[in-house]
Parts: sequence; structure tokens; C-alpha cells
Amino acid sequence: MTKPAPLFNRLALIGVGLIGSSIARAARAKGVVREIVATAQSAATRRRVAELGLADQVVEGNAAAAAGADLVIVCVPVGVCGAVAAEIGPYLMPGAIVSDVGSVKGAVLRDMGPHLPAGVHFIPAHPVAGTENSGPDAGFAALFVGRWCILTPPADADPAAVDKLTAFWSALGANVETMPAAHHDLVLAITSHLPHLIAYTIVGTADELAEVTRSEVLKFSAGGFRDFTRIAASDPTMWRDVFLTNKEAVLEMLGSFNEDLSQLTRAIRRGDGEALFNHFTRTRAIRRGIVQIGQDSAVPDFGRPHPDLPVEPLPRPYAVSSDD
Ligand code: NAP
Repeated sequence: MTKPAPLFNRLALIGVGLIGSSIARAARAKGVVREIVATAQSAATRRRVAELGLADQVVEGNAAAAAGADLVIVCVPVGVCGAVAAEIGPYLMPGAIVSDVGSVKGAVLRDMGPHLPAGVHFIPAHPVAGTENSGPDAGFAALFVGRWCILTPPADADPAAVDKLTAFWSALGANVETMPAAHHDLVLAITSHLPHLIAYTIVGTADELAEVTRSEVLKFSAGGFRDFTRIAASDPTMWRDVFLTNKEAVLEMLGSFNEDLSQLTRAIRRGDGEALFNHFTRTRAIRRGIVQIGQDSAVPDFGRPHPDLPVEPLPRPYAVSSDD
């Protein structure tokens, strides 16, 4: 069977970590681009990308990667997206689509937009899929399959360019939804950013316990704590930037969270079993809803995946989603 014609001639990937390398692997597997040009900040990563054969060309410098590409995807931490846009702006081909994968969208629109020339289509995006691992070795082609990719085009974006980027992400297996950047940031603050903050807090708190208790925490970590440690192992640079750039939305959600935590604290102190039971019943229904719409497996999580299980693609029950 013949493959459909590629959607893009040349894909430039600026940053080839977990997300950039997964895009490279998936785009190549699906034949959606004719050629991939990639770059990363350090010579060591560029060398590794070349060794892994993730791109047709690995070049030094963001401008060199972007020149001549009809799709440029910036896959770097949110905090450097503006600086990268300033570097590539003068070298972009007229009519090119420029996108990103950042976990925060308002800041990306604000920081990248002013550096991109007229005639270039800027359509920010966020694939809501990830793991706690980083770097070009961590990616895999199936990362986006069945996951959401949220596009946040500016109000005056060209609908044809939005459709083309939608087709790209759909070809990689993602479900695509479009929404305003501010709404994206509010939704992700509660579904992703706050859970990460809680994980970073609880693992840090456990680490500060007395020595004897701390060793027991590690030993008995299956009871919920283990899942927090996985999330708390996520990349420090990426998550620092998320909290610095989505400050308002995270603080708003943190306010509601603190109020709810106070209510549960009061219920425990007063021995109010009914309040606790009702709360836990409500949250159990939310979990069942997530399983029902196919965003996680109903398989019980008994423990860590077996070391002999294949790593790529990850079988569904272990296809963890860290960002997101
Ligand atoms: P990562 O694995 O740490 O990779 C980041 C890449 O960016 C590396 O190749 C790094 O190069 C490169 N880079 C950093 N600064 C650069 C610069 N100034 N110019 C060129 N390249 C530069 O990160 P990631 O997990 O793929 O995350 C990338 C983006 O995706 C972030 O904005 C994040 O918010 C978003 N995201 C992450 C997840 C997730 O779960 N991890 C999910 C969805 C979206 P070096 O290796 O040479 O430093």
C-alpha cells in the first residue's frame, strides 16, 4: 500500500529531548515529512541525535535549522522559547508554520509572537503526553497515540495553517483540540501543574523526615508514594519554567486546593466520617470517568513494569503521562 504524500517538505526540530525526539520518531514512522533537520543546545545532544539517526541533518545553531523549513517546531523549555524565536525569526521561510510544544501557552504566545515576521504562521501547541524522562533517548514514536494535542492559535491565525498542523498531529496519533491560550493554562494548572507541585512537595517532605522513617518510606513506597516519586522525578528546568510562566493560573488553583485541604483537615480533626466518605466517593467517580473516556487503563497498578517488558512502544497500562 502506498503511503500518503508527506504533509511537509522539511520539519525543523529545535530541541530534541523527550518531546522533540518523539516527534522525530513518529513523523518519520508515519511519513508525514520528507526531511527532518534537528538541532539542540549542546554538542553532546546533537551528537547523540545523530548517533540515534533521528534526523536527516543535525546542524549547529537554531537559525541554521529553521532556514528552509516549512514546519518549525520549537521543543525547548518554555523559559527559552522567546530567545529561540528571536534567533530564528529573520531566517524563517515565508509561509512556514512555526509551532512549539510548551506546557504553558500564554507565555509562549507573548514571548515568541513578537519575533516572528509577517507571512509566517505561528500556531502554538501542547501535546498532552509525556513521561518523567528527558533527552533524545527517552522519546518513542507511540508517545502521542490516543493523547490530546491542544492548539492555541492566535485569533487572527490562518485557518488553513491550523488545519495543516491539526493534520500533522492527527497523523502522529493525537486527538487535536483548539482553545484560547488563557483557557489552556487554567485547565492545565489543575490537571497537570498542581499535581506536579503536590508531588514535589510530598516527596520533599518525606525526604526531610528522620533517617529511620525515611528508609521505611522508601521500603513501603508502594502505597501511593511511589507514584508521587515518579512525577517528582520530572525535569527540574522544565517544571521551574512552568511555574514561573503560569504563575497566575497555578496560584488561583492553589487557592482552591488549600481551601479544600482545610476542609478535609477539619473533617479528620472532628472525626467527621460522613464528610470524608462523601468526598472520597466523589473523587472515585472522577477516576472512573477518566478510565471510561480511554485516558487511562482500568488495569490495577500492582507495581513497577517488569524489566523485561519492551520499552517501545510502551504497553498501555505503563504508558505513563507525566506532563501533560
Ligand atoms: P528535554 O528532554 O529536557 O529536552 C529539551 C531540549 O531542548 C534539549 O534537546 C535541549 O538541548 C534543548 N534546548 C534547550 N535550550 C535550547 C536552546 N536555547 N536552543 C536549542 N535547544 C535548546 O525536554 P522535553 O521534556 O522534551 O520538554 C520540551 C518542551 O516540551 C518543554 O517546553 C515542555 O514544557 C514541553 N512538554 C514536556 C512534556 C514532558 O512530559 N516532558 C510533555 C509535553 C510538553 P540540550 O540537551 O543540548 O540541552
